[in-house]
Amino acid sequence: MSTDATIQGLRTTLEDERESLRSQLAELGYGAQLDYDPNFADSSQVTAERGETEALVQKLVTSLHEVEHALEKFGSEQYGLCEACGQRIADARLEARPEARLCMACAAKSH
Ligand SMILES: [Zn+2]
Repeated sequence: MSTDATIQGLRTTLEDERESLRSQLAELGYGAQLDYDPNFADSSQVTAERGETEALVQKLVTSLHEVEHALEKFGSEQYGLCEACGQRIADARLEARPEARLCMACAAKSH
């Protein structure tokens, strides 16, 4: 059973991560635009370098969604519970990956 202090620490970690991801996106010019525009890739302006930036932006947006999803679960007291089986996710796993949605057993099964 996680202590409140552990959970609170993970929430702080996730909030820090969210801020970090947002500032990285802001630096890339995606500060206010959190919804990734799939049409961006169709621009005739796309260069190899821009393609790399786009891949990075996509990765950051995906991570941001994962982090925001995890933070939403604090509000409904679902945080730390596996989304597949409902069991509590091990503290060690949450500390390594605070945005984890599945427990070890379910994550292993989904591969
Ligand atoms: Zn599970």
